[in-house]
Amino acid sequence: MSCTARIKGIPQMPTVNARGGPALSYPIVYQATVGTANLPVLDVQVDEQGLALDGKVYRWLKVVFPNNTEGWVRDDLIEIAGDCSALGYKNTSDALVLAFSLSHEAPSVTLGRQGPDQGADEQEVRGIGGDVCLVTLTGDPNLPLVNARSGPGPNHGVIFQMERGTSRIYVIDVADDESGADHRWFNLAFPNGQTGWMRDDVIAIQGDCTPVGYEHLDEPVLASRAPRLSSEPVAVEPVAGTAPDSGCEGTVISTIPAKVRSGPNVTYNIVTTVEPNTVLPIDDSRAQDDGGDFIWLLVTTQEGQTGWIRSDLMRYQGDCADFGVVAASDDLYPSPMRRYFFTQGYGGINGHRGWDLALEDEAILSGPMGGRVVRAHPCSRCTPDKPAWRHHGIPYGDQNALRDPGWGWGYGNHVIVRYLHDRLPPSTRQKLAELGLAGHHLYVVYAHLKEMYPSVGDELTAETELGTCGDTGWSSGPHLHLEVRAGPNPDSMGSWLSLALLDPAVLFNR
Ligand SMILES: [Zn+2]
Repeated sequence: MSCTARIKGIPQMPTVNARGGPALSYPIVYQATVGTANLPVLDVQVDEQGLALDGKVYRWLKVVFPNNTEGWVRDDLIEIAGDCSALGYKNTSDALVLAFSLSHEAPSVTLGRQGPDQGADEQEVRGIGGDVCLVTLTGDPNLPLVNARSGPGPNHGVIFQMERGTSRIYVIDVADDESGADHRWFNLAFPNGQTGWMRDDVIAIQGDCTPVGYEHLDEPVLASRAPRLSSEPVAVEPVAGTAPDSGCEGTVISTIPAKVRSGPNVTYNIVTTVEPNTVLPIDDSRAQDDGGDFIWLLVTTQEGQTGWIRSDLMRYQGDCADFGVVAASDDLYPSPMRRYFFTQGYGGINGHRGWDLALEDEAILSGPMGGRVVRAHPCSRCTPDKPAWRHHGIPYGDQNALRDPGWGWGYGNHVIVRYLHDRLPPSTRQKLAELGLAGHHLYVVYAHLKEMYPSVGDELTAETELGTCGDTGWSSGPHLHLEVRAGPNPDSMGSWLSLALLDPAVLFNR
């Protein structure tokens, strides 16, 4: 008996969506009635977005429906029976079994993104939107699974395995191989929420990988062969013994030890690492020396070593204005997403103009004191299966697309909320005064949304859900671009770009 399928579905739902490819990102091509049976199975592929249940990545089965339409159904919604060994399934029988529950040998594993997700992966470094470095598992062609380890070297234990082809993986950090091998290791956040380290020769990276020391990559490139940011790694010597107590301190907020380097760029040698939550005195600051977005801060460790830490790896307290970073305060707003990966920090008017917080479909919440929606702009050119410029072949930084309201001027679906001065946190009002913006109101854009709920004029109550984290407009992967500007007029924002651009840290903690 050849391999056939029956639509199982989920309780209460009379139909199951079949899609044009093996992921939810593909359009629906057919709605199959639960119970439809004897459907020939043509192919099996892993979920291209790497979505998983309990650590097991979904697969999709391509089947033929009674009207001869072909479509893909996820393996938790479909049962199979008969001889499915040619499709990689073991232990199938003449009895119907949920496909998700079967083990699979993976003779045909999809590598990387295909279909509508393929194409140049543009993103903004200097523009308004924002972007992230995304990883796809390439692995070893002879093995279906890739090992994730607990640290950056082969001496660390394997903590789980992930399917080759899994994509939409975020980079948390990059480190040199601890065993001294000529490799780098990537600490990765997988779509199912797990994190672990993988070596640079089993992953492809693309997008804005400059925060972790690689060039911007329009196409996926094996990380071990990806061009690194170039700059002369000449150590910048701090001036010895001349670091008075500046009154500004940083606390390491990265989830893993922060690297202290010999100069203000990721290309410099690592001097030492500092554990999360360590408090360090700040002695000096520099712009990243290759023109990159980040500010770097000179710190002295408890062991007396000096070196440079990238500013987005710490939060700040005390008198930090001279160093170009904004001190946090207990009274600030929480970040607009409860769960996220912080993928890019603020780089000023000529750099990255906000924060990027990444976690697809996560709810985006307004501030705790209410606010008024002054813009709720739907991206008319964004479609569910092709939300971003890159899906339409629009090049990185395209000026016409940036001028196009149909793309939300690059922001895609976006909401701008006005927060009145009188209702801002006291420390925010004080910082505005220090910046010469006393009495100004804040205008915050929440960009690249997938779902967008409010309308212009809505008065928001505390922590209203504005939408969900998406990938619309000038974006290389799902993330929220959060940008904060200040203006004197509460009733009219005026031109967005004419407003004063601020580090989101004036209003938000993270
Ligand atoms: Zn951004």
